[in-house]
Amino acid sequence: MTFPKPSRTRKQERAIARRREAEVKTTVRAQVSQRDAARTLSGCRYPHATCDGGLEWAHVWDTRARTRNQPPGVRHRTDNTLMLCRVAHHAFVDANLVDIVAVDPALGTDSALLFVDRVGGYVIGLT
Ligand SMILES: [Zn+2]
Repeated sequence: MTFPKPSRTRKQERAIARRREAEVKTTVRAQVSQRDAARTLSGCRYPHATCDGGLEWAHVWDTRARTRNQPPGVRHRTDNTLMLCRVAHHAFVDANLVDIVAVDPALGTDSALLFVDRVGGYVIGLT
């Protein structure tokens, strides 16, 4: 019995998968960036008056840790990501101080979003 030599090494396969994921990320991030820039003045979807400037692409609900090893098109979508400034991303959203609720759940982050304070339960704002 012979085993044909695979045409690509595992290292090559991983490099191809990385490039494919990078392409999806670039495309989806650009779409989300354009969508959110049109929606708010700064491009940050978090409803606060001041941002520190730098926008970041934030994954919500199914975070990157939870979607590890899933296809890039599942991990990175316009309906599960949004633009936030660094402060909103890390201090509020990643720290689980704020719940992001899609007004239309079928559209996810493509819909209007409610930002709800987790502790107080009050609505911070709508974008
Ligand atoms: Zn902000």
